[in-house]
Amino acid sequence: MVEKIRKLVNLIKKENGRIALVTHMSPDGDAVGSLTGFYLFLKKVGKDVDAVLKDDVPYFLDFVPGIKEIKKGFDGKYDLIFLLDASGFERTGFELPPAPLITRIDHHISGKAYSEYDLIIPEAPSVGSLILKIIREYDEKLLDQDIKIALYTALLTDTASFRHANSFRWAFEDAHYLVSNGLDVTHIASMVFERKHLKTYKLLERALSTLTLDGNIGYIVIRKSFFEEVGANPEEIQGFVSYPLSIIDADVGVRFSEHPENFWRISLRGKGKVNLALVAEELGGGGHFNAAGCRLMGREHEVVQKVLDTIRKYMKKSP
Ligand code: 5GP
Ligand code: MN
Repeated sequence: MVEKIRKLVNLIKKENGRIALVTHMSPDGDAVGSLTGFYLFLKKVGKDVDAVLKDDVPYFLDFVPGIKEIKKGFDGKYDLIFLLDASGFERTGFELPPAPLITRIDHHISGKAYSEYDLIIPEAPSVGSLILKIIREYDEKLLDQDIKIALYTALLTDTASFRHANSFRWAFEDAHYLVSNGLDVTHIASMVFERKHLKTYKLLERALSTLTLDGNIGYIVIRKSFFEEVGANPEEIQGFVSYPLSIIDADVGVRFSEHPENFWRISLRGKGKVNLALVAEELGGGGHFNAAGCRLMGREHEVVQKVLDTIRKYMKKSP
């Protein structure tokens, strides 16, 4: 990995053209934190760089430095595009703009290869952790408070507050490094997790009325009508999947959320018993062993059945 990071650092040092950074739709803390952390760093070293994102940054990430500079779209041609925290460019919701070189920086197990510079490390606790490695290899003195806040937010959220990681050692080492020189982690945690709206709980109340344990799969359904009734946005369902997952007999937790544009966003979370990345891939999505997702069209009962059947298929295959 060290060699790959050096190669990437050399690429960045040599690049004097236009750079764009882009991440996935419905951005989470890792998407936003790695995007702005990398962006602030590249700007600091004098690069001509744009950070691009299709959807709005969710309100609970509104404190992350650099988000005001994110652009809603690409602007012409670029010399180098970095795809962050996404298994493929289609996850960005954009058409690929003209660029001779695209490089993917990610920690998803599967996905597409884009260039010899790709940095795809499934053990990385977050993409923010990969950006941290890049910056430390480049010159760690460049790591300022704003960049640290962005990267710590990526790490905190993608490990679900240090509860899940493919490498806990790496996650805690990053946390140790970032707090060593002073970082108000209590404030960051509070900004992310302690700013819920009352309507979010009204939405949760409705969602919990659907909570079901089917064998060893727990699931929760958030219908379009629930959002309408309480006036909540899709971004308010952050963390809802932990309810079905946390049922004692659930090996897998699923959150079905109906999108205003009539498709279902499905979040899958596991406890190490079944590879959910494979389940999600079979359903056209992707992710990690214990956290994956996909989007499906269809009626509620059909979509629920399809997802449960696919999880069961992989449960049987698991040892
Ligand atoms: P979440 O459930 O938080 O939306 O996503 C969990 C994980 O699954 C993330 O790593 C995310 O990138 C991945 N994921 C979620 N939805 C999709 C999807 O529609 N396609 C792909 N390829 N990955 C997804
Ligand atoms: Mn991530």
